[in-house]
Amino acid sequence: MSDCLFCKIVEGQTKTRKVYEDDKVVVFEDIKPQAPTHVLIIPRRHVRGLKEAQAEDAEIIGYMQLIAAKIARERGIEDGYRTVFNVGPDAGQSVFHLHLHLMGGRRMAWPPG
Ligand code: AMP
Ligand code: ZN
Repeated sequence: MSDCLFCKIVEGQTKTRKVYEDDKVVVFEDIKPQAPTHVLIIPRRHVRGLKEAQAEDAEIIGYMQLIAAKIARERGIEDGYRTVFNVGPDAGQSVFHLHLHLMGGRRMAWPPG
């Protein structure tokens, strides 16, 4: 999608700090980090969000979670981290290309608010 910010990041059109990529996903530092580790895991293929995801997206959604776990392991934040999909305006979704937040490296409050 030509007007999608995260598709532009996948294509390398921005100077985003990528931390991992493979044939299925790209991972980069969130521009406004809410924790010492705050990265976004996105599929290379444009999917608008979890609400719009279809059965054929099940594999990539699971894969995104496993990539989050791998990065958390590599960064030594396994004492506690969160993986979060914000879905819809009331949850604060602001970018409409599926993205999984990985946040950790500090104590995480519950409920998250
Ligand atoms: P959400 O509010 O769940 O839709 O999350 C969107 C996230 O994207 C926010 O945490 C933003 O800080 C982050 N973000 C927006 N633009 C960029 C960008 N150019 N590079 C990195 N992160 C971004
Ligand atoms: Zn996109």
